[in-house]
Amino acid sequence: MQIITLGDELLKQKAEKIEKIDDEIANIARQMLGILKLEKGVGVAGPQVGIMKRIFVTHIENDEERVYINPSILETAHNTVKYEEGCLSVPGIYANVTRPESIKIQAWNEKGRPFTLEAGGLLARVILHEYDHLEGVLFLDHVPEKKREKLVEKYEKAKGVKP
Ligand code: ZN
Repeated sequence: MQIITLGDELLKQKAEKIEKIDDEIANIARQMLGILKLEKGVGVAGPQVGIMKRIFVTHIENDEERVYINPSILETAHNTVKYEEGCLSVPGIYANVTRPESIKIQAWNEKGRPFTLEAGGLLARVILHEYDHLEGVLFLDHVPEKKREKLVEKYEKAKGVKP
């Protein structure tokens, strides 16, 4: 399992519903949590590791590791907050993104158990960011076009000088 980065067409595609939560899916979830730890990230979604299925995982400080399969965002707060985001698929690039300050989500875990979660703060942000990946949307897509072009240019420049 490897993180794919900006420019890969898979990041722009919609992920497919998971029909059955079996050992294979549980294994994918475990591997995704492993890669999250390795990369010191707070969330990773299936498409970021080339798996076009509706699954993502989160692990933020002071919270447990969480797996979300076939998630639905049930509610989003009217109040929004602006905060700097990054993405394992766009290393080195950070930008302010405005998102609802709290959400309610329903999903299944890797054991096939359904759950509903109300989240605020960083967890809400990470969930919305990862959910976007399932829709083929990157955090940069929330950034005004001019600013986005500059960031992509910066990213490509930085990538170009790497050996
Ligand atoms: Zn991301």
